[in-house]
Amino acid sequence: DEDLALLGLDDDDLVAVEAAQALPVLAVVGRPNVGKSTLVNRILGRREAVVEDKPGVTRDRVSYEAEWSGRHFMLVDTGGWETDVAGIDAAVARQAEVAVELADAVVFVVDASVGATATDEHVVRLLRRAGKPVVLAANKVDGPRGEADAAALWSLGLGEPHPVSALHGRGTGDLLDAAMRKLPLETQHGVARPDGPRRVALVGRPNVGKSSLLNKVAGSQRVVVDDTAGTTRDPVDELIELKGRTWWFVDTAGIRRRVHQTSGADFYASLRTQAAIEKAEVAVVLIDASVEMSEQDIRVVQQVIDAGRALVVAYNKWDLMDDERRRYLEREIERELVQVPWAPRVNISARTGWHAEKLVPALETALESWDRRIPTGRLNAFLGELVAAHPHPLRGGKQPRVLFATQVSTRPPRFVIFASGFIEAGYRRFIERKLRETFSFEGTPIEISVRVRE
Ligand code: GDP
Ligand code: GDP
Repeated sequence: DEDLALLGLDDDDLVAVEAAQALPVLAVVGRPNVGKSTLVNRILGRREAVVEDKPGVTRDRVSYEAEWSGRHFMLVDTGGWETDVAGIDAAVARQAEVAVELADAVVFVVDASVGATATDEHVVRLLRRAGKPVVLAANKVDGPRGEADAAALWSLGLGEPHPVSALHGRGTGDLLDAAMRKLPLETQHGVARPDGPRRVALVGRPNVGKSSLLNKVAGSQRVVVDDTAGTTRDPVDELIELKGRTWWFVDTAGIRRRVHQTSGADFYASLRTQAAIEKAEVAVVLIDASVEMSEQDIRVVQQVIDAGRALVVAYNKWDLMDDERRRYLEREIERELVQVPWAPRVNISARTGWHAEKLVPALETALESWDRRIPTGRLNAFLGELVAAHPHPLRGGKQPRVLFATQVSTRPPRFVIFASGFIEAGYRRFIERKLRETFSFEGTPIEISVRVRE
């Protein structure tokens, strides 16, 4: 885009946002205290500030966008994951299993100053079985004297141990180079062709009716079993034909399997939810309409927004609703979901199938919005009128002017506004509201960032 070049937007801005859908996933796994979190922070480095700068980053978040040598990828941080499961072996194994399921490649961290432990060896077996590419990090090699400790880790049979000091940064560049060689260019977790089936995740807290809904939609329709050419897919995903169109329901194994819940289950549920959301283009957040909305429901909605995916909210168990509950629900929605007045809403009963047919049109609406691109000319005509009618309030005698705007990406739509001075949050929200009114972004989060031009 010549416009962008003129405005001095660097290519990286665009590459980062356009590719976000298909970024490969690198997971950092290992026993507690080997230095995983330290390593993740080192890799994120100066980008960390950028991550924290984004609104809505919650502590549930386990993956971050990272960059090395011009390549962008998602980094899954397993440091600080739950350790209260009986037996550290079980905890580490479970952690590794989930991480590996999400990842396209793995950095396995061992504390070289301690050497390989039985737990480490246990994880190695898991990693082998999963067949994912692994790079071995021999951590806490703070100086040349530790090199011998690192070399001893050849015994793990994972190939060359890369001596690093996550704490001081020593060797981390070489480690990342090695990781980049093993990381595919795109994630293998559901890479769709542009014209392929759209990817849907059914998410929500336990017992809201995800598996009932999945069975309802899959049960009544033909389940497409053959592999669609040109797509890679996990066995946990299912192709389901609805209304003459094939949809790709991601991560359904987790829904069907009804993983048995022990301590730390909330965390894993949240992790699975995030994984499903990230694999999907559109998420259906199911909420049990018959009971009071919970913080967990709202958190799942927030996870979808943070991930930049299209969103449909489905209020399930409508067969259990009476008038009183209905009134309460409307009030709860007004109070708790004020931030997503734009999400299409469907009231359904997964048990009886009532209104299940409303799901597909809602998905289509949300995806169309998610894909929508507003031509630069139209966008600026709209902004010009808006700003003329409602100028930014004066700040200290000065008035920041909105100069120009452009949509830098779709999926979800992201806009950059160039202004002559700081634009207040309230005015930004006003612009977002008007953008939505004018261009109807029903069902998609949109992002607006402002660049100040002197
Ligand atoms: P995690 O539980 O695997 O995420 O481990 P942490 O990143 O929390 O690190 C555990 C401890 O090891 C902390 O006290 C770190 O400061 C320390 N540590 C991490 N990396 C290094 C390193 O490269 N060298 C040394 N000497 N200590 C480290
Ligand atoms: P999941 O944990 O989100 O997969 O939830 P399930 O699909 O397993 O449903 C949990 C419970 O809610 C089961 O007993 C279902 O039969 C019940 N349930 C699911 N959908 C409905 C519904 O629309 N109406 C009623 N009355 N019960 C439902």
